Amino acid sequence: MKLLEDRSFFSIGSSPPLTSPARHIRLVIASPNRPRRATRKPIKLFWIGVDFKWFGVHTKCMTERSPADFDAGQQAAAGLSKLSLVLRHQAWQASGRQGLTPTQAQILAHIASADGVVSVSNIADSLSITKGTASEAVSALERKGLIRKVRDPNDGRALILELTSRGRAEATQSAQRPEVVVNAVDALPDSEKAGFLRGLTGVIRTLQQQGAVPTGRMCTECRYFRPNRYRGKKKPHRCEYLKSAIADVQLRLDCPEMEPASPSVREQLVSLLFEGKQLAAAEAD
Ligand code: SF4
Repeated sequence: MKLLEDRSFFSIGSSPPLTSPARHIRLVIASPNRPRRATRKPIKLFWIGVDFKWFGVHTKCMTERSPADFDAGQQAAAGLSKLSLVLRHQAWQASGRQGLTPTQAQILAHIASADGVVSVSNIADSLSITKGTASEAVSALERKGLIRKVRDPNDGRALILELTSRGRAEATQSAQRPEVVVNAVDALPDSEKAGFLRGLTGVIRTLQQQGAVPTGRMCTECRYFRPNRYRGKKKPHRCEYLKSAIADVQLRLDCPEMEPASPSVREQLVSLLFEGKQLAAAEAD
């Protein structure tokens, strides 16, 4: 079946049409090194009706379709799921070396990078996990002496989390991104890197709007972000926090300095970024 997936070697002709699972499929072999007409050699294969759906996927790949017909969303999702396998594998390896689970490692990194009070509910929201899972992981970290619960200075009845000195050291390691993925993205030419980041920004923002992922710390949510302020330049955007121009390749997906923009501005930032437009002066606070 592996060979059948390769469109450069095979093309499928069906007579009668594929809609009838009981009929035969005619496979035409076209060698890439010899003229296609001269080597046409029909082979009859038996069509097994039970497997129609599964086989249908492959025959769809092999019919004469232009590349534009391929669904970009499906292809991107397939690519992202491959990436997520690598990320998960790396996360287990890295946290395993520290004697933590990936969730515990994420919690340490989250507390270390949080600017302000961190509670169990806040962790659950930020990491898209249930309160039960967050609470279990927090208890485990407490037992390991990496975090402690203290009274919230703003609300004496509430408990918040802070890192112990050992926890701070572990959090620095937990915050490291998987090197293998970082290197793979760094290996892209700058223009591709910029496109990749812009695309990711757009996809994540849409997922956030749908409530599928928590609000992040991205430029496209930030009150300091001014998309396309210097349109046409190498660094077309501006960060008011850094007081400097930033390139597409410098767009942040997890910035500790991010401060949320007003809801009306947040709604606009991604589309302004993609449409090459600027934020109206009156909206910039
Ligand atoms: S503060 Fe961070 S998130 Fe905000 S615009 Fe600057 S770089 Fe982007």
